[in-house]
Amino acid sequence: MLREANELHFHEIFQGQTLAILIPFAAFAVRKNAKRELSFFLPAARVAGWSPLGLKGGKPGAFSLLTCGVFKIIRLMSINRQAIEEGVRLLLSGLGEDLQREGLVETPDRVARFYEKFFHVPDNTEGLHKTFGIEHCGRYVLLRNVPFFSLCEHHLLPFFGKAAMAYEVHSNRVLGLSKCVRILELCAHQLQLQERLTEEVADTLVKMTSSEGVMVLLEARHLCLEMRGVKAGGACYVTRALRGNFATDDGLLSDVLAMIRLGKTEH
Ligand SMILES: [Zn+2]
Repeated sequence: MLREANELHFHEIFQGQTLAILIPFAAFAVRKNAKRELSFFLPAARVAGWSPLGLKGGKPGAFSLLTCGVFKIIRLMSINRQAIEEGVRLLLSGLGEDLQREGLVETPDRVARFYEKFFHVPDNTEGLHKTFGIEHCGRYVLLRNVPFFSLCEHHLLPFFGKAAMAYEVHSNRVLGLSKCVRILELCAHQLQLQERLTEEVADTLVKMTSSEGVMVLLEARHLCLEMRGVKAGGACYVTRALRGNFATDDGLLSDVLAMIRLGKTEH
């Protein structure tokens, strides 16, 4: 217990110190519109435990909202549309294509606009913390068959599928259902790995719901698995993240998995 408390303390100090270093750096880079410097910020922030939804392991609050606000501004600033367009032109040249060909003339612009939109962090992140009280509810809330799209950071190819997200109801308060979908979308619209995406969604749900128990199950097809290498068409990759009682109570886990299976047999 003491060890856990010490680790938590260290974690908070570490995040506080990195915050003190990174915020002035980010402010300077934003003022100078220094895209290259900003591109160093996000990996550094991620190591320090930041995410677009605030600090990992932190509770919703002013500090957490500040971090997600700063993260959002930096992320938007660091997307360099012109650089993406140039990159696409270079890629097309590398493929031996004629950039002036009618079908390709506007392709760099189209691709850049797609990436800009896909990686855009919506403005209403703060609203994700809002819960509402209900009188009668079960032990947990489950949302299943939620579609998602993400981009594999190893191959820049899509992976996509369905998610099931469950959390134990805490103090008779629940998160709006659309908020769960939003959390998944925010975490998925980044360069990702499915394993990390699953963990990030679970950690964010813990933080947003203040719940002791969370379960996230993702099933996805990966185009990098299907179009290249072993060409495993239709293969489905399944990842799961368990927190709190879902990790320790086998009965609770079996129950939620049965509910998810029920959804599959219904369709
Ligand atoms: Zn891949």
